[in-house]
Amino acid sequence: MSAEPALDDFSNADTDTDTGPVPIVAVVGRPNVGKSTLVNRLIGRRQAVVEDVPGVTRDRIAYDAQWNGRKFTVVDTGGWEPDAVGRAAAIAAQAEQAIAASDVIVLVVDATVGATDVDDAAARVLHRAAKPVILVANKVDSVRAEADATQLWSMGLGEPHPISALHGRGSGDLLDIILDALPELPSVDDDTEGGPRRVALVGKPNVGKSSLLNRLAGEDRVVVDSVAGTTVDPVDSLIELGGETWQFVDTAGLRKRVKQASGTEYYASLRTQSAVEAAEVAVVLLDASEPISEQDQRVITQVVESGRALVIAFNKWDLVDEDRRFQISREIDRDLRRVQWAPRVNISAATGRSVAKLTPFLHTALEGWEQRVPTGELNQWVAALVAAHPHPIRGGKAPKVLFMTQASVRPPKFVVFTSGQLDPQYLRYIERRLREDFGFAGSPIVLSVKARE
Ligand code: GDP
Ligand code: GDP
Repeated sequence: MSAEPALDDFSNADTDTDTGPVPIVAVVGRPNVGKSTLVNRLIGRRQAVVEDVPGVTRDRIAYDAQWNGRKFTVVDTGGWEPDAVGRAAAIAAQAEQAIAASDVIVLVVDATVGATDVDDAAARVLHRAAKPVILVANKVDSVRAEADATQLWSMGLGEPHPISALHGRGSGDLLDIILDALPELPSVDDDTEGGPRRVALVGKPNVGKSSLLNRLAGEDRVVVDSVAGTTVDPVDSLIELGGETWQFVDTAGLRKRVKQASGTEYYASLRTQSAVEAAEVAVVLLDASEPISEQDQRVITQVVESGRALVIAFNKWDLVDEDRRFQISREIDRDLRRVQWAPRVNISAATGRSVAKLTPFLHTALEGWEQRVPTGELNQWVAALVAAHPHPIRGGKAPKVLFMTQASVRPPKFVVFTSGQLDPQYLRYIERRLREDFGFAGSPIVLSVKARE
């Protein structure tokens, strides 16, 4: 098999709809065994692996790859500078990091050289890995050289897979093997595909939720009973707005004015929680005629913590005068600072003012919620950020940011791989800059750190 693998198209990488986390494949091995050549091969030649520049560390070491429709991230661990001295120790450390940071580990050995002490040291570390390890016998450029590969059974890592990273020989088979080793995809909700977007109208009692719903479903608009090919919960309403159908979830309670007979905030919050979880985007209504309250804040927190897209609507704007308008802008600065990223719209369910503006804001929030930054771009970005604004030094040391990847969308979640724990402040800095440079308007974003320690 000498056919060079034709990789699937990358160009739709940020418009995809899959929601599962993208698994990480780490490529480890001694210097010069062909790791970078293999990484190039795995990702196709569409993204060039960054050349080593003397004196510059290889920061951009993680790349998006796709094979048979499955996406994964390939990490060239050659870019990790091990702290440990000595070659065997260095590669052992590299293998440890790979175990901590990835889902599948590919150990590359130069079959023309055979397993060296250093290779065996890496293998010993990888024996302990609770993750799949794929042993690659590289530089098997011809059938004749395949005998070299069989000797690598001695490493105790199972079958050595002969390939030629340089010429592409066996690389399609290797991609199939990597694919088989990737963790199972989490099952995606069937009803997330193709059906109407799901919206929750939430807010404390009497902010105007049922008034807004009635306004949206007013006579000039069509309320549909069903959409072909979807099942809609009877407690939901399908409403056509701006030429498309939206599914307003859990509206039965609003329509029938069940109004929390028990009256306690506890039940109101349970109801909010279930509506938010059933939705993709929540419109939190605030009563513009009153100061923002703790209960309002709690509703916003519920949306953010559930990881849903958020639009904030100041309702009853018809009651707002010049003084109140001024107070509101101060309340926004004080109370809504943590959700500055959420679109805000001033409406009146009573008069219908600006209610039509809701739809574009819902779209903005959903786009932010589904936005994906390709790994290559993200790493270029984080390398520049760290260079311009390094992590403060604590006790003579500063943790290094090894690479960063966006693990999922809906909402966007990022994992920062580091050589040690980051200051919470520095993490917040990265988050702030992420928003400044990439947006994610209307969506919470989640950053987590995977530190090798
Ligand atoms: P790394 O240090 O492990 O990242 O190794 P590189 O990818 O930089 O490769 C080291 C050298 O081995 C380069 O000169 C490559 O051209 C060469 N090389 C890599 N893969 C193969 C292969 O499959 N066959 C042969 N003959 N040479 C290879
Ligand atoms: P819910 O409990 O959040 O569903 O709130 P309702 O829709 O029942 O509204 C509570 C009260 O606020 C009712 O008396 C509504 O008529 C009134 N209301 C709702 N929206 C507006 C608005 O935009 N302006 C004014 N002035 N009153 C409103």
